[in-house]
Amino acid sequence: MIRVRFAPSPTGHLHIGGARTALFNYLYARHNNGKFILRIEDTDRTRSTEEYIEAIIKGMKWLKLEWDEGPFRQTDRFDVYRSYVDKLLKEGKAYYCCCTPEELEQRRKEALAQGKSPKYDGRCRNLQGQGAKGQGAVRFKMPQEGQTVVDDLIRGKVVFENDQLDDLIIMRSDGTPTYNFTVVVDDVDMKITHVIRGDDHLNNTPKQIHIYKALGYEIPLFAHLPMILGSDKTRLSKRHGATSVMAYQEMGYLPDALVNYLVRLGWSCGDQEVFTREELIKHFSFENVGKSSGVFNPEKLLWLNSQYIIKSNPDELVGLVIPFLESAGIIRKGQDIDRKWLSKAIKTLQERAKTLVELANSLRYYIAEDVQYDEKAKTKFLNEKSMPYLKEVKEGIESISDFSALELEKVFKSIVEKHGIKLGALAQPVRVAMTGGTESPGIFEVLEVLGKEKTLRRLDKALKIIKGEN
Ligand code: GLU
Repeated sequence: MIRVRFAPSPTGHLHIGGARTALFNYLYARHNNGKFILRIEDTDRTRSTEEYIEAIIKGMKWLKLEWDEGPFRQTDRFDVYRSYVDKLLKEGKAYYCCCTPEELEQRRKEALAQGKSPKYDGRCRNLQGQGAKGQGAVRFKMPQEGQTVVDDLIRGKVVFENDQLDDLIIMRSDGTPTYNFTVVVDDVDMKITHVIRGDDHLNNTPKQIHIYKALGYEIPLFAHLPMILGSDKTRLSKRHGATSVMAYQEMGYLPDALVNYLVRLGWSCGDQEVFTREELIKHFSFENVGKSSGVFNPEKLLWLNSQYIIKSNPDELVGLVIPFLESAGIIRKGQDIDRKWLSKAIKTLQERAKTLVELANSLRYYIAEDVQYDEKAKTKFLNEKSMPYLKEVKEGIESISDFSALELEKVFKSIVEKHGIKLGALAQPVRVAMTGGTESPGIFEVLEVLGKEKTLRRLDKALKIIKGEN
């Protein structure tokens, strides 16, 4: 049974890199019918907050990365860590260290000045249990010679020299355990088979391997994902734009589009770009995870989002776009809106909107009572020249009983033929009268969505404007 976990530290929102790690864990679990566990690594009490825990969970839920167990919290498990620390102390695999931060800093500087490695010099280790017991921090005895090989599913074999490994602190003098220790204890207790995480933790892995060994546990498999970079090839950060997952929600991205984008940042399956969730689960494996870092490309994400909007069922977009209509002030919060009609309106626009924000804004002229005219468009198309055409459109529309795109087309055709003009010469003024601008979906569809009443009202208004009555 494959068991994987996502183990965020709640010291910030769920960001793009974290989400990608969570996603790869999720996909690996689902592909193998395994279990995906969520563990909150909140031992750093000064930097972890409840608010960030909630934010991470919200981000995971938005991306629909459902976990099977958890969320566990490390702060609930201090007794467990304590018992493992005691075990190691008893077996002589860890020791108390009473060196003060000042002493450590002083010796670190001296070592650096002598060109030596600045790691802990082993002073308290050498006291052979004669040092202060039950006081100070607890350090883990790392092997001092030989090599440790991390056999990584993505990186292959990575060799570390043991003399570079520090006797790391596993429990601080205030009794709180530290990351490299808690992560091992939890991965053992939670029966994790594959540790999938960012390769910023690769250097921690040999240390963790020795802790597994000291505790007498089997070592899981490791897969370290290359970091995500910004366009300038430095590690992705706020400088490159929004990095928090929920910022993309606010900008009108679809969660599935972001998931699709994130998975392609480091994984490929032939030339395919757009995947359903089922396809991702079916095809995901580490064989196709690249060793090199992916570069975050906001334009590509935007393109992918537009693809997802295009292929979405308009009925589904209804629910997604409503909050954006509300926040743009196009409808009031909680206002009733005919969902069937909205779906029809969306259908005419989804080819053109790259985000839900754009989609909401483009729906404005359908929903609002009044049109906001673009001044240039108004001057150019609502004038004496177009007046007779608009009048004839109005008369034609009044005479038809079936207000459908098909019937409307007939009305327009007869006017165009009568005057020997191009369809555009007629459609553009009508378009400005209906939408306020010169760009919109096909004019017959627009009219059909607007409905007879609104269409006639807007034609009247345009005619009044031309006559200077408005
Ligand atoms: N809590 C660690 C982090 O947020 C992850 C540790 C791990 O996956 O082993 O970077």
